[in-house]
Amino acid sequence: MDCIFCRIVQKESPAEILYETYNVLAMLDIRPIHFGHALVIPKSHCVDFLTLPEQSFHDIMHATQIVARALVKTFDLEGFNVFSNNGRIAGQSVFHFHLHIVPRYVGDAIRFAPMLKSYTGRSMAENGERIRRNIQP
Ligand code: 5GP
Ligand code: ZN
Repeated sequence: MDCIFCRIVQKESPAEILYETYNVLAMLDIRPIHFGHALVIPKSHCVDFLTLPEQSFHDIMHATQIVARALVKTFDLEGFNVFSNNGRIAGQSVFHFHLHIVPRYVGDAIRFAPMLKSYTGRSMAENGERIRRNIQP
């Protein structure tokens, strides 16, 4: 398996590393939406959010908070987005799980602008019922 993020973890490919622990690594995205755009990854390979081991949750979120605080301080940010693309249809291009941290600026015109739908009648309750049937803690 050839994975660019695994190669970065192994120090076989270069990256601008911002923060690293024994199981998590944060680096600058090579093609940033804004300068400082960072990626937080688990060191052990998993494809996406659904396959991220539960033991990694805390460390990934903790590293994300630490790096986000550094971005806010460095660029004097008023806001930022944290997100993860899962699946090609959702925009995932590297199939090693990662969270994006993207600085935001007034007037930067980055918009996720879907046509919002409206639930009518019982459809919200019906959707809730269908999803609840598949909740498997
Ligand atoms: P995705 O599209 O999968 O949500 O995000 C993958 C991100 O990884 C993209 O924003 C892309 O710019 C970044 N990326 C791809 N290859 C490399 C690389 O070799 N090094 C770094 N630092 N980022 C990369
Ligand atoms: Zn990998």
